[in-house]
Amino acid sequence: MAGVSGVGLSWSSNISLCPVPKPSPASRPVSSVVKMAVSVEKKPFSLQKSEEIFTAAKELMPGGVNSPVRAFKSVGGQPIVFDSVKGSRMWDVDGNEYIDYVGSWGPAIIGHADDKVNSALIETLKKGTSFGAPCLLENILAEMVIEAVPSIEMVRFVNSGTEACMGALRLARAFTGHEKIIKFEGCYHGHADPFLVKAGSGVATLGLPDSPGVPKGATFETLTSPYNDAETVKSLFESNKGEIAAVILEPVVGNAGFIPPKPDFLSFLRQITKDNGALLIFDEVMTGFRLAFGGAQEYFGITPDLTTLGKIIGGGLPVGAYGGRRDIMEMVAPAGPMYQAGTLSGNPLAMTAGIHTLRRLKEAGCYEYLDKITGDLVRGILDAGRDAGHEMSGGFIRGMFGFFFMEGPVYNFGDAKKSDTAKFARFYRGMLEEGVYFAPSQFEAGFTSLAHTAHDIEQTVEAAKRIFQRI
Ligand SMILES: *Cc1c(COP(=O)(O)O)cnc(C)c1O
Repeated sequence: MAGVSGVGLSWSSNISLCPVPKPSPASRPVSSVVKMAVSVEKKPFSLQKSEEIFTAAKELMPGGVNSPVRAFKSVGGQPIVFDSVKGSRMWDVDGNEYIDYVGSWGPAIIGHADDKVNSALIETLKKGTSFGAPCLLENILAEMVIEAVPSIEMVRFVNSGTEACMGALRLARAFTGHEKIIKFEGCYHGHADPFLVKAGSGVATLGLPDSPGVPKGATFETLTSPYNDAETVKSLFESNKGEIAAVILEPVVGNAGFIPPKPDFLSFLRQITKDNGALLIFDEVMTGFRLAFGGAQEYFGITPDLTTLGKIIGGGLPVGAYGGRRDIMEMVAPAGPMYQAGTLSGNPLAMTAGIHTLRRLKEAGCYEYLDKITGDLVRGILDAGRDAGHEMSGGFIRGMFGFFFMEGPVYNFGDAKKSDTAKFARFYRGMLEEGVYFAPSQFEAGFTSLAHTAHDIEQTVEAAKRIFQRI
């Protein structure tokens, strides 16, 4: 497993034991820096139009956004309003250009607005956007997903990751006849009621412990454990014998910052669910087709019973999916009695974007490339931060990464919360002005894409070096 070195970055001894080098500003050739600043005429960074539009938006939509993390609450200032995206880049309404490490929160793994995806979408569009009836494109994407993801023998397409997780949970309960589930603190499985317990990023960033409006009855059966904590999971199984329908988790956490599983954690969960007649659900909405073509389950060699997907398989259009063993999936209506439906599910546009995104990802060398550039990025940032005297930890697997302003190791959300979020906010604002767009929260993983070049990475690391000096 080529990328395991990336996992090691998170807590390997070389991180906590390595001496922190002192900053050495004296070694910088000041005169050449000044000359460069004069010769490259850069227009001053302004977000005036962004600010005007967002101010208006706040009167129109709650918080000015349609998804909370976009609102920049945890990094301060106003969010940027964007105008267009292409490849690894985004442009805002003021004309500023950014290297993007959000990738629309995951889907843009082959780069934004890919030419082939776009032209396929235009051809599909000519035939209509929604049939509300079967179409061949559904078969094609279903076959691709089934062939790629080890646990999936049958799949149901829905319209978001949230829906995928709702469906998988209902199915696990229907199949086992049990009602309780175990989830992990800091893992996000969409915004359905039963999952809004210790749900990571969006919720954590806003400091809402649980959401009002979620009835006690909805979360009553949701048990939680710290991530990477086998002992707590064991004791939950013991004190709820014969009552657990499923254990659901992000096989690599991305919604509490980047947190990989300890070496035996996934195989432990595989075994304990099996021993107790519970299902293991990998929520691969983020990791699916990102850590490997077959997702985290291929990467780690652990096959769950059910898998949820989203983000990448929609290639930038709204999609989710859940799938798994045939005997379980055949419980889903109309094959079986478990009801779940969707007006726009499997619509031709989303299927087209998914198909062409997966085709690109299937080409040789994609994941090796992601591994290389993401590794260069994370090593570059960690080295630059430590050189400037900051405590840092971080890691990556293929096209997914994260770093914290704290010494590792970070095993769970509790650890992650000890990081210096105020420093992250300063770093964040600085990087924006340098033209680098990271996720506006310390507790979100970052994403690279096939469109990111060695030059993008170099430019990002150079920018980080400048910002680390002044935070
Ligand atoms: C994004 C995400 C979801 C929710 O997907 P939406 O499409 O935003 O509803 C669920 N689980 C994980 C792991 C995610 O990253």
